[in-house]
Amino acid sequence: MNQGYDFDLAVIGSGPGGQKAAIMAAKLGKRVCVIERTQMIGGVCLQTGTIPSKTMREAVVYLTGLQMRELYGASYRVKSDIAITDLTSRLQHVVGREIEVIRSQLMRNHIELIAGTGRFVDPHTLAVQGEGSTGDRTVTADIIVVATGTTPARPPHIEFDGVRVLDSDQILTLERVPDSLVVVGAGVIGVEYASIFAALGTRVTLVEKRPQILDFCDPEIVESLKFHLRDLGMSFRFGEEVASVASSGRGTITTLASGKRIAAEVVMYSAGRQGNTAALGLDQAGLTADQRGRLRVDGDYRTTVPHIYAVGDVIGFPALAATSMDQGRLAAAHAFGEPANELHHLQPIGIYTIPEISYCGRTELQLTDEAVPFEVGISRYRELARGQIVGDSYGMLKLIVHTETREILGVHVFGTAATELVHIGQAIMGCGGTVDYLVDTVLNYPTLSEAYKVAALDVANKLRAVERLTVEGVIGAC
Ligand SMILES: Cc1cc2nc3c(=O)[nH]c(=O)nc-3n(C[C@H](O)[C@H](O)[C@H](O)COP(=O)(O)OP(=O)(O)OC[C@H]3O[C@@H](n4cnc5c(N)ncnc54)[C@H](O)[C@@H]3O)c2cc1C
Repeated sequence: MNQGYDFDLAVIGSGPGGQKAAIMAAKLGKRVCVIERTQMIGGVCLQTGTIPSKTMREAVVYLTGLQMRELYGASYRVKSDIAITDLTSRLQHVVGREIEVIRSQLMRNHIELIAGTGRFVDPHTLAVQGEGSTGDRTVTADIIVVATGTTPARPPHIEFDGVRVLDSDQILTLERVPDSLVVVGAGVIGVEYASIFAALGTRVTLVEKRPQILDFCDPEIVESLKFHLRDLGMSFRFGEEVASVASSGRGTITTLASGKRIAAEVVMYSAGRQGNTAALGLDQAGLTADQRGRLRVDGDYRTTVPHIYAVGDVIGFPALAATSMDQGRLAAAHAFGEPANELHHLQPIGIYTIPEISYCGRTELQLTDEAVPFEVGISRYRELARGQIVGDSYGMLKLIVHTETREILGVHVFGTAATELVHIGQAIMGCGGTVDYLVDTVLNYPTLSEAYKVAALDVANKLRAVERLTVEGVIGAC
């Protein structure tokens, strides 16, 4: 290690990727700094993305009483007139606490948090433009991790005014719950916010140029989600592109390429995200980004300049807080020669719509394409005692099992606690477990986890039926 540098590691960006890179290096006894703008501590994850959207969702599910309506009737509400402050106050509380946690973790690990905006001056030197009373500063480091994340992409033909026409970061600054909303773009962020506002009673129209939403998920589950969203009053405009958005003090008109016009109080664009690299002075470090501002890295998260790593959303797919953290940890481990295993290929996907979706492993469609023989077991929450207790009659869990090896190939969950439940399936799959593990295992009762047992028995029964007919020669006799 060259002691001539100010730090062994300098991290640009304090989102999940930057934080975990910094902490890993500190645990290895390295001198570490994190450069971040004061109002963005915790990154997009904490300030404008994951945590605010999930907190808002939780507040909406609670205050609308939506989850309890099966038990207490369709008109049940915890609060009848939900104001935007009911949502933002919870949000401020959670974000405030999380900022404290992050600051304390950095401090405990002796990581210097440098307030400001960093850019490369040369491959080992960063200029930090300070804020307010904090002066500008130059920082040198042996290793640099770029964890600068992304910002919402904005189509050039749309005028964003931050009041009527917003991107997904600005939706958090709404001053009231809109009566009507057009959401453009049905990726995960678009659908999540669309469902949150629909649950609040906003008339939501979701516009998407593809013919379907969430086409990487199990189609049966996507159909169930669409049914629920329609039931909340949401309209879909698939296969449609936005030609223009006109806005005035009184509202907006979104004109689609097909000629349709949609009036709404507010329009939210969720049209992908752009890597935060334009102002980084990449050329000074010998780096270039692609058209979407993303950096290319190898399997160890190293850019084309060996001592500069990049992690998190700035390197693109899968662009999740969950993966960014581990990328940061692994990048720092690699940089300082600490042995670490690469990430397991099985990674869960969680979609926090109302109701939520989660899955791990492959879908029926993928397996059919790959000519893998499988059987499916389904458990519906309405047949579980816990499903009745929590008032969820629509939830379901689907297990996909290899018909010959009985290995679990995929688990797909829809409904209450889907994003938690999926990890049971993920753990079994990760250990190469078969459906028989679930058949032979006692689970707590009454729980939603019981869905695994019911689905496993469903698969086992179907497989047995095929075996019996085959053994009895019935099939041969036909
Ligand atoms: C609405 C929304 C909902 C989401 N929901 C989920 C979810 O449920 N689950 C999930 O796993 N993921 C979710 N994500 C994705 C998740 O937020 C990102 O994957 C994650 O935040 C990426 O982490 P990161 O480390 O790349 O940094 P980011 O969190 O993107 O933060 C990057 C930081 O770098 C800073 N920065 C940039 N340039 C500079 C510079 N020059 N100098 C100093 N600092 C700089 C920025 O200020 C920012 O704070 C969501 C995202 C959004 C937008």
